[in-house]
Amino acid sequence: MSAIASNLQAVRRRIETAAQACGRAPDDIALLAVSKTWPLDSVLQAAAAGQRAFGENYVQEGCDKAMATAGQGLEWHFIGPLQSNKTRPVAEHFAWVHGIDRLKIAERLSTQRPEHLPPLQVCVQVNVSGEASKSGCTLAEAPALCRAVAALPHLQLRGLMAIPEPADNEAAQRAPFRALRELYEQLRTSGLPLDTLSMGMSHDLEAAVAEGATIVRIGTAIFGERNYA
Ligand SMILES: *Cc1c(COP(=O)(O)O)cnc(C)c1O
Repeated sequence: MSAIASNLQAVRRRIETAAQACGRAPDDIALLAVSKTWPLDSVLQAAAAGQRAFGENYVQEGCDKAMATAGQGLEWHFIGPLQSNKTRPVAEHFAWVHGIDRLKIAERLSTQRPEHLPPLQVCVQVNVSGEASKSGCTLAEAPALCRAVAALPHLQLRGLMAIPEPADNEAAQRAPFRALRELYEQLRTSGLPLDTLSMGMSHDLEAAVAEGATIVRIGTAIFGERNYA
């Protein structure tokens, strides 16, 4: 078995254990394999081990991999920061965008989404740690942004995404995830049909699952340490 295949198995087991620990069904948590910086061959190894959804955060690199694997049934998620002059290739080559943090980007993606493709599946990114350096809208801005995004014709708003500051214990890791889940529940109560909480990375997967993650975005634990980004 390749290292990637056995890492994938270990990550799936972590998800299962974390889900069982809080009484959730493991199948309710999707694994997004974050292949950014890794060559196509790594993607193909993961695909051979049954992985279908892949996350990229560089536009050109992600589009190249999506094009190289067209027709193989893989699903590409853009998870990086997105500048307005780079929206078109993302609208054309990805199935999902997790980092919507302002309306202008969402409007461009909706306009540029090709008619023959299903709506682009999107999450609004919320800054739950509150430092100025991280992208994402504020908790206070999120409801209005979500309603505006949900109204765009070629996007389907699925939920919320966050990348909290790293923390070294589970209680500290859970607090920002809980804030995201509470916002998610408020938005659902207010009538938005959301089903996705995109949260949790290699170091805080368990905390995210405990707080209700439905997609975890895992890079290092599958592919190894990156040399950059
Ligand atoms: C790189 C990245 C990940 C994966 O992080 P790991 O710590 O390698 O698991 C998840 N989400 C986003 C947005 C990323 O940029």
